Amino acid sequence: MKYKSCNLIQHGLCFFCNDLVSCCFSPNDQINGGHPPTIIHNYNGELLSKKGLFEKINEFNYIFKQGNCPRECLNCYKIEEKDWEEKQYINSITITHFSHCNADCIYCSNNLKKEERTNDVYEILPVLRDLKKQGIIEKGVELHIGGGEFTIYKECDNLLEEFALSGFANVYIPTNAIKFSDKLDLAIKQGNAGIIVSIDAGTKQTYRKIKRVDAFEKVVENIKRYASKGTERNEVSLKYIIIPTINDNLKEFKNFLKIAKDVGVKNIIIDVDARYSRLLNHNIDYTLLNIGKKYEEIAKASGFTTEMYSFFSQCEIIKTEKENIFNKIKNEIKYRYFNKLAKELYSK
Ligand code: SF4
Ligand code: SF4
Repeated sequence: MKYKSCNLIQHGLCFFCNDLVSCCFSPNDQINGGHPPTIIHNYNGELLSKKGLFEKINEFNYIFKQGNCPRECLNCYKIEEKDWEEKQYINSITITHFSHCNADCIYCSNNLKKEERTNDVYEILPVLRDLKKQGIIEKGVELHIGGGEFTIYKECDNLLEEFALSGFANVYIPTNAIKFSDKLDLAIKQGNAGIIVSIDAGTKQTYRKIKRVDAFEKVVENIKRYASKGTERNEVSLKYIIIPTINDNLKEFKNFLKIAKDVGVKNIIIDVDARYSRLLNHNIDYTLLNIGKKYEEIAKASGFTTEMYSFFSQCEIIKTEKENIFNKIKNEIKYRYFNKLAKELYSK
């Protein structure tokens, strides 16, 4: 049956620390502080039955089938119109219920203070093993990791064994690469795991400013090991999150590309600090957008593949003024020297 819906509302599970939800994309969640589509409130690692799980999932999907849209999904870019099958299964899982981390990034969207971030959360492996046993999770499932730093999460090795090293899932992991994980390295080399490392800098000083830890050399060395011989495809990506007034200069970005080349990384991801764009109601300053585009061109010209992440594709460009040379200069000055938002966000 053809209608507008979303793969994650039908086949997605996202484990938060207190709730089980469909996704972590909800635009309403991001703008209004509401919740993504919630399957179970006050969830704490209990085993799940197929009936219990799909009752709520079907409620959401019924709204889509009627040609409407659940409030939580309004304006979501993931909605697509196509023939949706009726079969009940899970093909995308996100684990984001832990928050412990060994870095302290200036842009971290985790609202907890560093000392409050924790690994002391419910165990997820028994739940996922049970869903697998019931045949609810499909082989080839995408397993996305969020939350804190996965390599120091208590179930990291066991999850990698069960899902990546066994070849059951494709696992996508953002890691800060401060700790090197042998199991993760093996999964990367096998082609069952991909990592994204945001170093956002080309120098030790800028790295320190953004990540607020002294680990630049160690991180570069660890990325080199992950990306070393045996890494078949683009399993290791380096990310540059543009942080207005901190790393938005060409010299820094070119140093970053040099490091990427030296360590053998082939794919570059460019993004903008999500909180900055969120405060602009998911828009990006015209000047910042041009900076991102320019970085992409330079990376491509240097032989890298590139991805422009969510906040470039999702955001509407502020197009209040036509770009002539006068406006360009005016916008540049406004962005660089009178950026109240950046000052407020990054002065803490
Ligand atoms: S439409 Fe968007 S908000 Fe709704 S489940 Fe899909 S990804 Fe999540
Ligand atoms: S590495 Fe990730 S989880 Fe850790 S502080 Fe940085 S953004 Fe947050």
